[in-house]
Amino acid sequence: MRRVGCVLAHHPVEDREGRTVTSAITNIDLHDISRSALTFGLEGFWVSHPIEAQRALAHRIREHWVHGSGGTRIPDRIPALSLLNIVESIEHAKAALGEGTELWTTSARLPGASGLSLADGRAALQGDGPPVLLVFGTGWGLGKEVHAQAAAHLHPVLSPRADGYNHLSVRAAVAILLDRLLGVP
Ligand code: SAM
Repeated sequence: MRRVGCVLAHHPVEDREGRTVTSAITNIDLHDISRSALTFGLEGFWVSHPIEAQRALAHRIREHWVHGSGGTRIPDRIPALSLLNIVESIEHAKAALGEGTELWTTSARLPGASGLSLADGRAALQGDGPPVLLVFGTGWGLGKEVHAQAAAHLHPVLSPRADGYNHLSVRAAVAILLDRLLGVP
């Protein structure tokens, strides 16, 4: 079984026009994705943000739930938010997960030939190999340069709708993808 982590990237992400921007951290993302990461046995959940003030906000949220009154009130949140690491960039998260870590990116769009199906991704994780950092975006999705440096771009969670609408919140996408890749069938 390969070691797996995930990172929620706030830069480089795209805006509505496809320009590269930096998005703001959303409190609920930290909670929901930490809980999914714990549920599916990830080594860690990294939040990456280039702006120090935003990282400080994330640290305050983590502190409140791991060592503060939030954890006292709801102890179940302590192990989940304890998985949360706050870093400057995707690269920092990749280095933290360890030597040789591969990036597997995600999006609602079907990738090209480099795409990795969720079934093949699940099988690959069952085998031996370097650690895998699953990369999730914010805004209108990960910047193109992130996909370009990835070892794999996972196929999206697809919709049965005729119009194919499949733009999930990142929280929902993380939970579904982790279940497909690592969940107990
Ligand atoms: N149009 C953007 C895209 O295709 O990535 C939607 C961005 S969505 C608000 C934020 C993140 O959620 C995406 O970067 C991706 O990580 C994840 N996501 C959203 N819908 C998804 C789907 N159907 N399949 C896989 N990941 C999805």
